[in-house]
Amino acid sequence: MHKMNNENQSIPEPIKGERGGKIWGAKNTPIDRENPNTLTPPDTDHGTLPNFKWPFALSHMRVEEGGWSRETTIRELPVSEKMAGVNMHLEPGGVRELHWHKEAEWSFVIKGSARLTAIDAQGREFVDDVSEGDLWYFPSGIPHSIQGLSEGVEFILVFDDGSFSENSTFSITDWFAHTPKDVLAANFGVSEEAFDNIPDHQVYMFETKVPGPILQEVPQNMNEAVEEPFTFRLTEQKPIETKGGKVWIADSTNFKASKTIAAALVEVEPGGIREMHWHNNTDEWQYYLEGEGRMTVFAAEGKARTFDYQAGDVGYVPFAMGHYIQNTGDKPLRFLEMFKSDKFSDVSLNQWMSQTPPELLKAHLHVDDQFIKHGLTNVKKPNVKY
Ligand code: MN
Ligand code: MN
Repeated sequence: MHKMNNENQSIPEPIKGERGGKIWGAKNTPIDRENPNTLTPPDTDHGTLPNFKWPFALSHMRVEEGGWSRETTIRELPVSEKMAGVNMHLEPGGVRELHWHKEAEWSFVIKGSARLTAIDAQGREFVDDVSEGDLWYFPSGIPHSIQGLSEGVEFILVFDDGSFSENSTFSITDWFAHTPKDVLAANFGVSEEAFDNIPDHQVYMFETKVPGPILQEVPQNMNEAVEEPFTFRLTEQKPIETKGGKVWIADSTNFKASKTIAAALVEVEPGGIREMHWHNNTDEWQYYLEGEGRMTVFAAEGKARTFDYQAGDVGYVPFAMGHYIQNTGDKPLRFLEMFKSDKFSDVSLNQWMSQTPPELLKAHLHVDDQFIKHGLTNVKKPNVKY
């Protein structure tokens, strides 16, 4: 006899056939609804694994003049040692002030457009405008600024260290505020009065007028430009098309400046799956842009744990652990995969199996000829590891 689930089927309960029972005490049904595989995990899940999900909606929001920012780091998601992320929004004319940091910064523009400025250690300059689907990358220690253009901008930033904090960057206003005025005067060769009105603390973000067209704004004394541009038009590239979706890959082979972050933008159609695979080089930091998905992470020793993801969530997969991402919604699922590496690299389970002698495979898995003949025909074109 099956235990009755709630009369109201829309209230999920931890009941599987004859096992489990209703929650009598406090429960948070909206969270349960978003995480059916946490409330009632598949029977293949087993063992204790860390948390691999963090919704940006639970990250502290820093609300400022000119926009907002929130971060997901090792403090929010303890497993995410290799990378951290920041979600930021700038109003029209809103500026993330001139600053630098120890970590390299990678970004994907979600909506709107922005003006970027930077300079490298050789004094070479960089100014460019980015819009939806573009990437940027600033190497560690390189100073830069971001400003929202006429419609404003929203983007996701990824840093190549999980301990990064957007609240501890080196800012120009912070440095000026904490330098004796006579030193500023000596350094710039002007009188101390020139600094009478400087902010007395870090500004971080502020609003000013939307800048004019890029050609008018570039300094007249513009030096040589940086060797490898800090921006890349990701979605203007031709995607790799597969049976269940599309993928755009950017790493140091096509986006030369991006030496420590490799990335893929993945689109999975309803009913489709980002196939079972693992990465042979490093951890994966994910950001869900649109739709709904589920992922099981296989960690060896019989351990596996399944998570559900919605737009705005961060997912994480430690080095070498097997995983898939299934579209569980009725709309396309779009997400980003980022790696602390100069190259994108993965190993497909399908491809491996299809290139293994069938008798050897049958002896391992006790599968029939049907699996060998049909199950492995979903394999992507040889050498396209996706
Ligand atoms: Mn930065
Ligand atoms: Mn992956």
